Amino acid sequence: MSEVLEIRNLSKKFGEREVLKDISFNVSKGQVICLIGSSGSGKSTLLRCLNLLEKPTTGEIDYRGTSILNPGMNLFQYRSKVGMVFQQFNLFNNLDVLTNCTTGQMNVMKTEKEEAKQRALSFLEEVGMAAYIHARPSQLSGGQKQRVAIARALAMEPDVLLFDEPTSALDPEMVGEVLRVMKQLADSGLTMVVVTHEMQFAREVADHVIFMDQGVIAEEGAPEQIFNNPKEDRTKVFLSRIL
Ligand code: ADP
Ligand code: MG
Repeated sequence: MSEVLEIRNLSKKFGEREVLKDISFNVSKGQVICLIGSSGSGKSTLLRCLNLLEKPTTGEIDYRGTSILNPGMNLFQYRSKVGMVFQQFNLFNNLDVLTNCTTGQMNVMKTEKEEAKQRALSFLEEVGMAAYIHARPSQLSGGQKQRVAIARALAMEPDVLLFDEPTSALDPEMVGEVLRVMKQLADSGLTMVVVTHEMQFAREVADHVIFMDQGVIAEEGAPEQIFNNPKEDRTKVFLSRIL
């Protein structure tokens, strides 16, 4: 199997508080990994470490066999390959939909304007947002904003996309449209690491589920095992609360 990311013995401290402890796992090409766990268990911090929005305190992260923790890393280039979709969309509110999806390509990948536009359009099409290219984020619903954010990330042609609770800020009626796009991406073979409270999505789409509790991987396995036959008491307690 070809490993896209290898995380070894990663820990993260904020001051004296250790919020991630000895985390190790791999992300293989084409794999969908869902990270589940209670609020405060360290899921966002872990994703932020993978994207280098946080620096791990100890441990290693390799991207395609090379450590990303070297001082010489080009962060912007790395983040185009290991993209992130946030709970709060993080769109540029002063730019229209199309420009949101072209600036990164032009600034980071040095793509020519016309090509950047064409690529943006094809991904906006894929997420069902091609009719909104001239809209500002403020004119869109949450579900539409999130689909634009996904198109923007895709336009960078990422190797892996990280999703941090992409549907948690949405009104319930908009959750489905975003999950459908994500399922479509998973089916198309995109490598994804998804922090989610949508257990039905994790059950259906994940190849591998990681349950985090208080900064550690408390249990991991295939979705059928985690959801139908959890071994650890804390997994059982978490699932009984959320399902
Ligand atoms: P989750 O995403 O699972 O809810 P987080 O990764 O956001 O968990 O947070 C894990 C723990 O780390 C929490 O106790 C949180 O308060 C703490 N934490 C997160 N970010 C910071 C920070 N920048 N400074 C200090 N503590 C933080
Ligand atoms: Mg979080």
